[in-house]
Amino acid sequence: MQIGIIGGGPVGLIASLALRNTGHTVRVFDPSTQKPKMSLALSETTLSLLENIGVHLTAGQDLFEILVNEQGLPGSMLLNAHECGHFRFGRVICSHALDQVLASHVTNMIESVVVTKVRARTTAGNPCIELETGEAIEPDLVILADGGRSGLSDSLGMSAQLRSFDRTALLGRIRVETPISGRAYERFIGTGPLALLPIDPGVYGYVWSLAPRDAEVLKQSTPALLDALHIAMPSELGAIELVCDPVQIPLIERWIDQPYRPGIVLIGNGAQTIHPVAGQGLNLALKGVSRLVDALATGEPDTAVRTAFVSWKPNRDLTRLASSSLEALFDRDLWPRKLLTSVGMALGDQSPWLKRKIGEAGMGIIS
Ligand SMILES: Cc1cc2nc3c(=O)[nH]c(=O)nc-3n(C[C@H](O)[C@H](O)[C@H](O)COP(=O)(O)OP(=O)(O)OC[C@H]3O[C@@H](n4cnc5c(N)ncnc54)[C@H](O)[C@@H]3O)c2cc1C
Repeated sequence: MQIGIIGGGPVGLIASLALRNTGHTVRVFDPSTQKPKMSLALSETTLSLLENIGVHLTAGQDLFEILVNEQGLPGSMLLNAHECGHFRFGRVICSHALDQVLASHVTNMIESVVVTKVRARTTAGNPCIELETGEAIEPDLVILADGGRSGLSDSLGMSAQLRSFDRTALLGRIRVETPISGRAYERFIGTGPLALLPIDPGVYGYVWSLAPRDAEVLKQSTPALLDALHIAMPSELGAIELVCDPVQIPLIERWIDQPYRPGIVLIGNGAQTIHPVAGQGLNLALKGVSRLVDALATGEPDTAVRTAFVSWKPNRDLTRLASSSLEALFDRDLWPRKLLTSVGMALGDQSPWLKRKIGEAGMGIIS
C-alpha cells in the first residue's frame, strides 16, 4: 500500500517505521518545528513496539518505582516493578533524544515540506495530499499526524472538542543531592500534581500542573521557583538546583471521537491530546498506531482504519477519563478530600494486588 504521512513528530515517525517494516511504501512530510524539551515516561508497551521496529533506546533511565503521595500528609503508595512481577515499569527519555534516535532511522523517508491541503477519497479516486511545492500525490491512505498544529483536520470536517483545564504545565529539569535510582514521584500538592521523572543520573524532569498565574510567576523568578519546588518536593531527594529554564505549556484537552474519513486517518495529538498528569499521551497514541498497523496488514485501508478504532475505543476513552479525573480529584485543596486520599493511599499501599493493577495500568502493561 502507498501511504502518505503528514507530520514527523514521534507518532508520525513511529507509525512510518512500523508501516515500512510491514511492507508498505511510506512518504513522510514535515518541515520540522522547534519543540520544547520534555521528559517522557515510555511504557513497556511503547518500548516493545520500539524494539519490534528496530529502535533501541540507550538514553534515559529505567523506571523501577513510583512513589505516590500528597504533600504534608503521611499516607503514601510505593509501586515497585519487581513486586508487581515486572522487570521495570518503563523508561524515561528526553523528547529530543527520542526525536533524534527516530530521525536516524528515517533519514531517507522524511521530506522537509509543508502539506497545504488534503482531500478525502472520493468515488473518482484516492485521497490527495497537496504540498507547498505544488506537487500533489494520491496514496492509498493518508495518515495525518500533525499534532493538531495544521488546521488540516478542520478542513476535512473533523472538528475537535477543545476543553481548557485552566491549568498550565511548568516543566524543566533539576539536579538533586540524593537521587534514588529509578524512582519516579507523583506528588499531589494541593495546587496541582507534580511529577518527577528520573532522566539522567541525579537529574529529574519535572512536570507541574499549576494555575496559569502561578506558573507565570514561577517561570519569571528562579528564586521563587526554587523555593516552591523545595517545598513541594519529597525531602528524601535533598537539596536541588535548576538545570535549565522552565517552559510553560497551557493544558488543553483536544478530542475527536471518530478521527477518520474515507482514505484518511488522524493519529497522535491531533486526534487526542490528554492531560499529561499520568504521562500517557504518547503511550496511548502508540497503542492506536499498533492496532492500525495490524489491521492494515490484512485489510483494505478504510475497513482497517474502522476496525482499528473500534477495537481501540474502550482503552482510548478510559485513558482520557483517568487522565482528566486525576487532576480534577487532586487539585481540591480541601481537608476532607486530603484526609480520604491519605487514608486511601495508606490502605492501598498494603494491597499488592491493587498496586500491581495501578502500576500495570499506568505503565501500559495492561489496558
Ligand atoms: C507536559 C507534557 C508532558 C508529557 N509527558 C508525557 C509522558 O511522560 N509520556 C507520554 O506518553 N506522553 C507524554 N506527553 C504527551 C506527548 O508529548 C504527545 O502525545 C506527543 O508528543 C505527541 O506527538 P505527535 O507526533 O502526535 O505530535 P507533535 O509532536 O506535535 O508532531 C506533529 C508534527 O507535525 C508537523 N506538522 C504540522 N503541520 C504540518 C503540515 N501542514 N505539514 C507537514 N507537517 C506538519 C509538525 O512540524 C510536527 O513535527 C506529554 C505532553 C505534555 C504537554
